[in-house]
Amino acid sequence: MKRIFCPKCDYEIAIPKEKIKQWKEANLQTTAVVCNNCAYQIRLRLTPPQTKEERLECGHILILENVFCERQEFPLFLGDNHLGRRNKDSVTDIPIITGDPSMDRHHAIIRVKQMKSGQIKFYIADEDSRVGTFVLGDILAPKEWREINDGAIITLGATSVILSSEKLNK
Ligand SMILES: [Zn+2]
Repeated sequence: MKRIFCPKCDYEIAIPKEKIKQWKEANLQTTAVVCNNCAYQIRLRLTPPQTKEERLECGHILILENVFCERQEFPLFLGDNHLGRRNKDSVTDIPIITGDPSMDRHHAIIRVKQMKSGQIKFYIADEDSRVGTFVLGDILAPKEWREINDGAIITLGATSVILSSEKLNK
């Protein structure tokens, strides 16, 4: 299931993965879906922009389901990945769809580095959030970059996030 938001009224629209597969198999470059709320025709690009494609995917994060949000997964790319609560008026690399009021729109940054040996390392820093960013219950100091490993449990507000070094799109 892929979730998009109507550019006109911000209504959330769910598109089944099966549907996207069908469009791709039909070799469509773009398609349109109609907003169930305001009937606006939303044009969808089925071929992702090249810049995103070129970025090296290195692992992913899993957002655990809680009272504010559903389970979500996002790929992580080499370099900085900014995480925060999705809001129609702000842009972030990883927009978490949640009603969690204690998660900021710009809450934390996960930095993915490739060592000379080729090994991938993950680091996290708080992005000046109101309630802070925690790794295994331990709050990060201001401007601290902490190394995190596969399975690390990160807390943003009331939301738990788990790091995985496995690629989401295999
Ligand atoms: Zn709409």
